[in-house]
Amino acid sequence: MEIESVKCDCCGLREDCTQEYITNVQATFNGKWLCGLCSEAVRDEAGRAGKRKKAHGPLEDALRAHMAFCRKTKLSPAGGVADGMRQMLRRRSGKDDLADI
Ligand SMILES: [Zn+2]
Repeated sequence: MEIESVKCDCCGLREDCTQEYITNVQATFNGKWLCGLCSEAVRDEAGRAGKRKKAHGPLEDALRAHMAFCRKTKLSPAGGVADGMRQMLRRRSGKDDLADI
């Protein structure tokens, strides 16, 4: 199995992945490669958007929104992209938990 080093199109994180995995991710995200954290965030957002409204291409919208979010977070001096995303995901899932009760 071939291992390649790929760079996340969102946050710039490098990961060593199998070519099969890379191809899979690129097929999902319009030819872009996203690290585990970013793809999780985008899928999360796309899932929400898909449920909320019959959005046209929720994944594409989520990807665009997430890339903007990453750029913003990269520019902010406090905390890294990963920290920002973790906070974002935590905040969201917390909200969901409350809504489910
Ligand atoms: Zn990333």
